[in-house]
Amino acid sequence: MSISDFLKKWWTTNSSTKSVKVEDLFASSSSSSINNKSHIDSDLNIVSYWEKPEDSEVINIVNDIFLHSMKSKASDIHIEPRDKSVNVRFRVDGNFVDYKTIDLSLRDSIVARIKIMSYLRIDEHRMPQDGKIAYKLFGWKSIDMRVSIIPTIYGEKCVIRLLKKDDKPPELKELGIMPYNMVRIKKHLQDNYWMILAVWPTGSWKSTTLFSLLSQFDPKENNISTLEDPVEYRIPGVNHTQINPAISFTFAKWLRSLLRQDPDIIMVWEIRDEETAKLAVEASITWHIVFSTIHTNSATHTIQRLVNLWVDPLLISSSLRMIISQRLARKLCIHCKIAYKPSDKIRDYIVGKVGRYMKDKVDLTLYKANESWCDKCNHKWYNWRVWLYEVLEMTDKLEVLMLQNASRIQLEIQAVWDGMIPIKEDWILKAVLGETSIEEILSVLGT
Ligand SMILES: [Zn+2]
Repeated sequence: MSISDFLKKWWTTNSSTKSVKVEDLFASSSSSSINNKSHIDSDLNIVSYWEKPEDSEVINIVNDIFLHSMKSKASDIHIEPRDKSVNVRFRVDGNFVDYKTIDLSLRDSIVARIKIMSYLRIDEHRMPQDGKIAYKLFGWKSIDMRVSIIPTIYGEKCVIRLLKKDDKPPELKELGIMPYNMVRIKKHLQDNYWMILAVWPTGSWKSTTLFSLLSQFDPKENNISTLEDPVEYRIPGVNHTQINPAISFTFAKWLRSLLRQDPDIIMVWEIRDEETAKLAVEASITWHIVFSTIHTNSATHTIQRLVNLWVDPLLISSSLRMIISQRLARKLCIHCKIAYKPSDKIRDYIVGKVGRYMKDKVDLTLYKANESWCDKCNHKWYNWRVWLYEVLEMTDKLEVLMLQNASRIQLEIQAVWDGMIPIKEDWILKAVLGETSIEEILSVLGT
């Protein structure tokens, strides 16, 4: 395999993504020494429940699930009742990993235990409930958990999102953004006012890129404020605000209040409604820098989504500078991945897509999972993750198309014509560089 020397050098220098440091939480002690009581408040019912000896089995099961989810660097825990058992699985690097199966007789006790830890009603079984757990370890580091409980036909299902609030966001250069995209991103970060949107489907670690972008600005020189739900990263000097949907104070209301505080840079966690969309766009054209996110599947979908939220296309074209679409794929374990020569058909396809970046278009080597015994990756063959990006810059021609209410395909063709590298080409290059496998990417993006 041979690729542009520049690209290879850049990648080698910048792709050393750091592990999240959850394992540090366990560095000095075994799981049995976790301070189980550290998050208990003065509620006597909670304390008495906690200390009942007959409940210790349930307590141990729940603690074990939490412990292993953190050791596995999971982003979510799913505790799912089935007709004959309860399945526990983790989402790790965007993919589900089965953890264990628990006897059905323990189903209600486990849910009750989680409800108590997250201050939810244990006698409510028919309605969805949302809560939080601050899971403290050794009294100084902690992990926040967002709990969602929804009734299913087999009982209540729990999804617990793990938020590592002590983590700093990674540096932009650590995200594996290819030079052709990095150049565009850095160019727009130097504009005076604009809106940048990041988009992705569920489970793509959206906050990582967003906060890495935000970290590019100096809080001493700028009033940087965020509206988040939930707060995941903490950047020194940045005013992080946690939105609380329970008190009916929406993103739009918060944003209206925040704009009175003369912010320079605003990060609105998510544009979900018409009012927030309009306010965010108006803020960006009145000399604010606005970062936000919209839940869509691609960069071009995002333009249509904004228009569907009844934002004036003229305002969108004045405001929007860049849309970053991202996906997450698993990174091949560097200890057990194996090289192979692809078939002529696959090689020709790859060369057809990204040949302009490749020096040697004939002798192409790809990598795949060996699927053999490997202690380094715990026989998962993938270790950590690769971000795949598509960066759309607004251009004059795209603006004209948007004002003409063009279709998504027309927008896509124009964006590529204007220089956007489609996400599919970004992933092919990452496979060519040996970061991930063709099989993994196909499972993320489809054919
Ligand atoms: Zn391995």
